[in-house]
This record gives sequence, C-alpha cells and structure tokens, in this order.
Amino acid sequence: MADCVFCRIIAGQAPATVYYRDDQVIAFQDIRPVAPVHILIVPIKHIESINAMSEEDKPLIGHLFWVARQLAVQHGIAESGYRSIINTGRDAGQAVFHLHLHIIGGQRVRYPMG
Ligand code: 5GP
Ligand code: ZN
Repeated sequence: MADCVFCRIIAGQAPATVYYRDDQVIAFQDIRPVAPVHILIVPIKHIESINAMSEEDKPLIGHLFWVARQLAVQHGIAESGYRSIINTGRDAGQAVFHLHLHIIGGQRVRYPMG
C-alpha cells in the first residue's frame, strides 16, 4: 500500500528504529512514545485492522504476541509489566490503518495509553 506509512517503513522507504524483523512481522519504536518503552509490532502483510483479519491470519496474530513477549524481555519490562494495545476503528482512535500492536511500559501506564 503506497499511501501507508507502515508499509513504507517495511519497504525501507521511511525511517524507523527497527528492533526486530522476520518474514511475518517488524517491530519498531513509536515516533511519539508515551512511555520509556513504546514499541509497535506490525505484520509485514498490510491488514487494515482486526476487522480486516481473515481466518488465515490467526497464527500471525499469535506471532505478534510471541514477538511482544521476547521484546519485553529484551527491553527489561517483562517483570515490571507493560500494556498491549490494538486500536480498531474510530472509537478506539485508530490513526494508522495498518494493524499494529502497541507494547508500552517502563513506567506505570495510565489508561488508555501512557
Ligand atoms: P493507533 O492510534 O493507530 O493505534 O497508533 C498509531 C501509532 O503510530 C501512534 O502511536 C503514532 O505515534 C505512531 N506513528 C504514526 N506515524 C508513525 C511513523 O511514521 N513512524 C513511527 N515509528 N510511528 C508512527
Ligand atoms: Zn500498510
């Protein structure tokens, strides 16, 4: 998707601080972090939101959380804790319509984010 900022990051056409990448997902620093650790875990495949998931995407969503678990350990927040957020649609305030999992920690996080 040419007009998708996360697809541009995946394609190497926009800069990001990338923490992890494999054939299914990429994880990078949120550009406006709301806490000391704020990582976005993003499928390589452009899926607009949870609403746009198909049944074949079920293992991919599990993999997002598996990568989240490993990044939490690497960033030292596994024990202290972190919030995992997926915003879907207008009422959740979804701003980027390429599915992504927020991992937020390193301080006590307030609701909804940070
Ligand atoms: P949403 O509200 O869609 O769940 O969150 C979108 C997130 O993407 C926000 O936390 C925002 O700061 C982040 N974001 C938006 N544009 C960019 C960008 O170009 N690069 C990075 N690294 N993060 C972005
Ligand atoms: Zn995209």
